[in-house]
Amino acid sequence: MSIVLPFHSINEVKKPVFLRVYHNNTSCAPARDIPLWERKPGTSLYRLCDVCAEYAKYSR
Ligand SMILES: [Zn+2]
Repeated sequence: MSIVLPFHSINEVKKPVFLRVYHNNTSCAPARDIPLWERKPGTSLYRLCDVCAEYAKYSR
């Protein structure tokens, strides 16, 4: 696993605001499912995805 710069899918905007997330881990399965052309750098002020948050706990 590795922490990377935050990124989010351009399709997050189609979700309700409270469901929008960003990712910062290459091991995150939902993040891996986002095609490269749908990725945007930055958090866009979304919350960190639950899977990435779990990985963050164990990477310290
Ligand atoms: Zn994630």
